Amino acid sequence: MVLGSINLDLVVRLASLPRPGETVVGDRLLRFPGGKGANQAVAAARLGAQVRMLGRVGNDGFAEELLNGLADDGVDVSGIARDGEEPSGAALILVEKGGQNTIAIAPGANWRVGSAEVGLLSGGLEPGDVLVLQLEVPLETVRTAAEAGRGAGARVVLNAAPVQPSLTLSALPAVDLLVVNEGEASRLSGLEVRDPAGAEQAAAVLGRAGSAVVVTLGALGAVLWERGKAERIAAHPVQSVDTTAAGDAFVGAVACALAAGESYPDAVRLGSAAGALATTKLGARSSLPWLAEVRSLLGSNTR
Ligand code: ADP
Repeated sequence: MVLGSINLDLVVRLASLPRPGETVVGDRLLRFPGGKGANQAVAAARLGAQVRMLGRVGNDGFAEELLNGLADDGVDVSGIARDGEEPSGAALILVEKGGQNTIAIAPGANWRVGSAEVGLLSGGLEPGDVLVLQLEVPLETVRTAAEAGRGAGARVVLNAAPVQPSLTLSALPAVDLLVVNEGEASRLSGLEVRDPAGAEQAAAVLGRAGSAVVVTLGALGAVLWERGKAERIAAHPVQSVDTTAAGDAFVGAVACALAAGESYPDAVRLGSAAGALATTKLGARSSLPWLAEVRSLLGSNTR
């Protein structure tokens, strides 16, 4: 089960990003379904997991597009409410030719995800289930959801992303597995993380409250820290063209493997394969791999 954000990404490509007060004419508007929660739900579903998503969209035209996008990938959307007051979440993304971008997020209905969703979650989780959370819905909701998930005997995975500068480690709920990238690991641990050795040190700090920790390091792979022991998991060498959503592919795959009863190291290996494949295609949702692709990267005997 995933409780989290659902956004429509509205993208305009431009020759150069506008300066404050400037108007720049770009290419035609592109629309992509997004949101970390929704992307991670789809990532897990494409690898064969049964996924229920809890969250909110608005009572507007975007909602249909967002719900259909999730349902097309086999995600159960029956727990996604239409909020009467706030519009669907959206991200306004300006991309300069050459790659630089600026992003403004309007959380809208995502910011109203609260006790109603946590109530649904408590009734719907069973021991052995996996609950996946991120930080694009209110932190208080993430905290109560994590408690409810653990109370129901589920394994709780928190992808602590995005991290606001004001967020401290102690404000995060206790979870079974914390997944962060190097930037998030640096901010939360107060240590600079640039390589696997730094990631191990940061993970030891982040895991003090009892969680297992994964620090992802892009092309440098990932570090898994579990009960005082660190393991480095190498990245797959691939032809990367766009790293967008590598982290979402990784988290969705890890959750899928854990729900299938696999160990943390095996789950991280599946996550690394999914993350690597996501970098070989342009876009976010469009780059999340299917099971057959992951199997062929891992070699058909491994899974
Ligand atoms: P985020 O998107 O959250 O910053 P990362 O970039 O660390 O996350 O990517 C998550 C995982 O995806 C990495 O741990 C790695 O296994 C895989 N990955 C990401 N970028 C690459 C790459 N360029 N080559 C191979 N694997 C990659």
